[in-house]
Amino acid sequence: MSTPRIIESVNALRQATRQWRAAGENVALVPTMGALHAGHISLTQIARTKAKRVIVSIFVNPTQFAPHEDFSKYPRTFEADREKLATAGVDAIYAPQPAEMYPPGFATTISLAGPASAGLEDRFRPAHFSGVATVVAKLHIQAMPDVAIYGEKDFQQLAVIRQMTRDLDLPIEVLGGETIREADGLALSSRNVYLDAAQRLVAPVLNAAMRDAARRIRCGEAMEAVMSNARAVITAAGFALDYLELRDAVTLGPPDIASGQPLRMLAAAKIGATRLIDNIAV
Ligand code: AMP
Repeated sequence: MSTPRIIESVNALRQATRQWRAAGENVALVPTMGALHAGHISLTQIARTKAKRVIVSIFVNPTQFAPHEDFSKYPRTFEADREKLATAGVDAIYAPQPAEMYPPGFATTISLAGPASAGLEDRFRPAHFSGVATVVAKLHIQAMPDVAIYGEKDFQQLAVIRQMTRDLDLPIEVLGGETIREADGLALSSRNVYLDAAQRLVAPVLNAAMRDAARRIRCGEAMEAVMSNARAVITAAGFALDYLELRDAVTLGPPDIASGQPLRMLAAAKIGATRLIDNIAV
């Protein structure tokens, strides 16, 4: 247990990292939007193994939400987050106000291709990844950590961040942490608090159908039939399915079975107004 320092400005962040570096200490960054759960904490544990100093950023980034999305009602639980991060032993919480990240006149946005246009999340949230990549580029440049850790839960996002960090020559190792789940398979998400009791009972069907489909594909069943069966199971459970796709795990392009490249199954589906995403190795 320690008391993480709360840092609210770019200058104060740079001062902290400068002091650590002067003492020969390396730095890990775990970016989040707060409303922290065990998935986020698992990333801080990876961070601990990689660096002497761990910074967790908490910033609900307005530019990655579309106007009809949940920016204003996104859960904000700073005091509880602070306690969890104290228990996790992080060194600093970087929690800038929107005006610190986007001062008046801010006019730069990162434009993306590659994994950001794989036809998955980008089909349903067209401006999302450019908002994510821009804020993550800023966080990477502001903190300039040795390593930054992101969850595989947001698999396409992780690919976009790896690509952006490489393309902009940022000297930062990007690591992925595995998805932490409830006992029934539902991936932990800050948005799960939106689910009512009935929806919470239905929610694990998404992951269960994906695991069943992955197992059938590994057993050699015809891919197309397995995937359309899984889509039907998910829809019959009461989800409005945005997509359920099998992709190359590295490029996120269409799978080339003959190549022997690893495959990833990715999905997004709504229960009522709540949109869940998930992905698993096949
Ligand atoms: P968020 O606060 O939802 O933007 O997530 C912050 C980071 O935590 C991202 O890198 C997410 O991919 C990661 N994350 C979210 N949910 C989970 C989970 N269930 N398991 C592991 N990492 C997660």
